[in-house]
Amino acid sequence: MTTISANLQAVRTRIAAACANAGRPVGEVRLLAVSKTWPASFVREAAACGQRDFGENFVREGVEKMAALADLELCWHFIGPLQSNKTRLVAEHFAWVHSIDRERIAERLSEQRPPHLPPLDICLQVNVSGEESKGGVAPQAAAALARTVRQLPRLRLRGLMAIPEPSADGDLLRRRFATLRNLRDDLNGEGFGFDSLSMGMSGDFETAIREGATVVRLGTLIFGTRVKESPT
Ligand SMILES: *Cc1c(COP(=O)(O)O)cnc(C)c1O
Repeated sequence: MTTISANLQAVRTRIAAACANAGRPVGEVRLLAVSKTWPASFVREAAACGQRDFGENFVREGVEKMAALADLELCWHFIGPLQSNKTRLVAEHFAWVHSIDRERIAERLSEQRPPHLPPLDICLQVNVSGEESKGGVAPQAAAALARTVRQLPRLRLRGLMAIPEPSADGDLLRRRFATLRNLRDDLNGEGFGFDSLSMGMSGDFETAIREGATVVRLGTLIFGTRVKESPT
């Protein structure tokens, strides 16, 4: 068994256990394998173990990997910061974008989504920690952004995403994840029908599952410690 396949099995076991502990059905949590900085061969290996969803942070790197793996049926998620000059490539190649925090970027994606593809699935990124440097819309501004994005014809607004600041304080982490879940519940009370709560990474995904995550984004636990954070 290769390292990636052993890692995937271990992660699936931990996700199942976290779901059981939370009294949630395991089918409710989707595993997104974050393959940023790793070669297409690693993705191919994970795909051979049944992994279908992959997350990328850098547009060109992701698109190059997709081209190398065009023979596989994979679902690609864009999870990194997105600048307006890169929206076209994202609209043309990805199935999901988790990191929408501005109206302008959402509008461009909707305009640029090719007609032969299904609508682009979208999560709004919310800054639940209030860190100045972090991406994400402020929780108080999320509803207004959601109402705008919902109108865009070539997007399908599916839910919310957050990256809380890393913390050894379990209570604090739980509160951050709960902030996102409560916001989802409020918006669903307004009729949004969100089915996706994208939260939890290698260091905190079990806490995220306890607080209601439906998508966990794991890189390190599947592929190992990244030697660099960006492809350049
Ligand atoms: C890199 C990254 C991840 C994966 O992080 P790990 O700690 O390696 O699991 C998840 N989400 C986002 C947005 C990322 O940029």
